[in-house]
Amino acid sequence: MNRLNILTFPDPRLRKKANPVEVFDESLKKKANDMLFTMYEDKGIGLAATQVNIHERLIVIDLTEDRSEPLVIINPEFRVLDETQEISKEGCLSIPTFQQEVPRAKRIELEYQDLTGKKESLVAEGLLGYCIQHEIDHLNGKLLVDYSSSLKRNRIKEKLLKSKDVKNKN
Ligand code: ZN
Repeated sequence: MNRLNILTFPDPRLRKKANPVEVFDESLKKKANDMLFTMYEDKGIGLAATQVNIHERLIVIDLTEDRSEPLVIINPEFRVLDETQEISKEGCLSIPTFQQEVPRAKRIELEYQDLTGKKESLVAEGLLGYCIQHEIDHLNGKLLVDYSSSLKRNRIKEKLLKSKDVKNKN
């Protein structure tokens, strides 16, 4: 398994809209496995393909502490079952050190395909529901910073650009 490079804000590639997955083959399985490995290494609970510069509608999630329940979600579509907005405080592997409160739907129904192309569905609320909504935002080129003030967005942008400069010089 390979650890993939995670793009960080404000990399413009994070704004690309991902394409539907049409072929369910070994290379798709490899991408999902590499993404899970990368997510575990970076101690995340979710990762969208867009974040590793793969522009396909593919997400991995694992909310368990012992990382024992990997969920691979392909071509996700969700509908809101309960429109109550809850406030979720979120971080993102593509925006290190940044946290943002985001309004998320309380309960959703997700339809998706698994690695073999089989159609699946699940109902999610709480952390799993927020995480799915966060990762689908990525597939649509949307980021946590879009929910913040422009002041806060510019501040994190400058901070991350500066830390990238330092990394490049070393
Ligand atoms: Zn994220």
